[in-house]
Amino acid sequence: MAERVINMLQCTTCKSKNYYFASGKKKENKLEIKKFCPKCKKRTVHKSGKV
Ligand SMILES: [Zn+2]
Repeated sequence: MAERVINMLQCTTCKSKNYYFASGKKKENKLEIKKFCPKCKKRTVHKSGKV
């Protein structure tokens, strides 16, 4: 049975969880990606984390 880990990308500015993605690997580094946040209406740094 394959375990699927669902990660999310959380805006570090408003703490809004904007993006979700599934990943098969358990060992994932904490990513910091610049993504568009609809709440902030601009590109902000998003941190990845487990749901
Ligand atoms: Zn935001």
